[in-house]
Amino acid sequence: MKLSNEPLITEEALRERIGALAEEISRDYANRKPVLLGVLKGAFHFVSDLARAMRCPVEIEFIRAASYAGTESTGQVRVELPISISLRGRDVILVEDILDTGRTASAIRAHLQSQGTASIALCTLLDKPSRRVVPVTAAYTGFSIDDHFVVGYGLDYNERYRELAAVYILQPEA
Ligand code: 5GP
Ligand code: MG
Repeated sequence: MKLSNEPLITEEALRERIGALAEEISRDYANRKPVLLGVLKGAFHFVSDLARAMRCPVEIEFIRAASYAGTESTGQVRVELPISISLRGRDVILVEDILDTGRTASAIRAHLQSQGTASIALCTLLDKPSRRVVPVTAAYTGFSIDDHFVVGYGLDYNERYRELAAVYILQPEA
């Protein structure tokens, strides 16, 4: 497998779009203090950049959800929520790297609801709507993309490429 020569989404496009998302979210959550709940590891750059562009106060927490080995979903999702605050009565913005089949987001949402959250909104950097198996829609979407396997800006292939500043398509070697 090799990276596309050109990014699918450049650093500049990421910065611009994330700035606009932060504006929108800040307006929607004015006078509230939402919890930005990032899903590790893929969302770590996104949470960081989103948080720095926000205009309302936020709290930042991370959870972990595992569902993937290589590029194929196992269909099984394990949620680990070892966070230091109570989510009871809180407005939670679940920050995901990518929405694919929807299994992960849907499992996490159910898990959060059982914690007594006041509200849960999904914010995903990338969305592959054509891949959806479980009906999930994001309140905030960075980019809707075609059915490519992408890496970079937090997204990995077997733990590689997370450090890249832009999003690339991972292609089979010619
Ligand atoms: P879902 O549960 O929606 O099928 O999958 C969500 C998770 O699958 C993401 O958080 C991500 O870890 C992984 N995933 C789905 N599509 C891609 C992709 O194109 N690239 C990478 N690196 N991970 C993906
Ligand atoms: Mg992930």
